[in-house]
Amino acid sequence: MGKIIAIANQKGGVGKTTTAVNLAACLAQLGKKTLLVDIDPQGNATSGIGIEKDTIDQCAYDLLVEEVDVHKVIRPTNIENLYMIPATIQLAGAEIELVPVVSREVRLQKALSPIKEKFDYTIIDCPPSLGLLTINALTASDTVLIPVQCEYYALEGLSQLLNTIRLVQKHLNSRLRIEGVLLTMFDARTNLGIQVIQEVKKYFREKVYETIIPRNVRLSEAPSHGKPIILYDSKSRGAEVYLDFAKEVISNG
Ligand code: ADP
Ligand code: MG
Repeated sequence: MGKIIAIANQKGGVGKTTTAVNLAACLAQLGKKTLLVDIDPQGNATSGIGIEKDTIDQCAYDLLVEEVDVHKVIRPTNIENLYMIPATIQLAGAEIELVPVVSREVRLQKALSPIKEKFDYTIIDCPPSLGLLTINALTASDTVLIPVQCEYYALEGLSQLLNTIRLVQKHLNSRLRIEGVLLTMFDARTNLGIQVIQEVKKYFREKVYETIIPRNVRLSEAPSHGKPIILYDSKSRGAEVYLDFAKEVISNG
């Protein structure tokens, strides 16, 4: 059965896109047919996977606003088993243009339903807000994966996110579950990182993944080369750890 996972946290810079791109690429490398969906108008997942802006004919905007057939928007990537629905800055308009539309929250769910079972995993990279685009992602998904940066105020804002998840469960998508909480950008040299881990585990308990993503320079360099870490530097700590993480996601079912 195809599983759709939204990567969400309304805070920017917590590792959503890094996780979406690298989890999707690692799942594909492990033989899972995977679709990466970029619904952030910034298009960082799109460029991070190596899709150049000027080659994009139709993007997530056309899917959501124009209701273009999903098959016309999906494209292959340089990685075997990995396909993508790209985003461009045009998508910024969707948040406003969808407001007067009937069933505006279920556009993505409807768009993805014909292809859901064709992929083992569909990974949706959300924008840093709890607006209509993120609501569409949560409504379309089976689960939500929450990256939390190992920094001061790590838990700040998470109650808002959990509240939004509850509202979506109640009104739009009763099957939505929390996939897990992923600690990112951990720095073993500081006490702070260890304190944050304890704090997050106290709050989310068994929902916290065993894999913890360390700060790794290679992970931050890879996007400017348009490559996921397993292509950019397969021997790096970042590549190892995202592969471990993908295995953990698979083993959780
Ligand atoms: P978000 O999508 O939540 O805004 P990003 O994934 O874009 O966050 O990450 C924010 C910044 O931090 C980016 O420049 C990214 O390259 C960098 N980054 C993310 N994860 C790591 C990591 N584990 N180690 C080092 N840099 C990271
Ligand atoms: Mg992002």
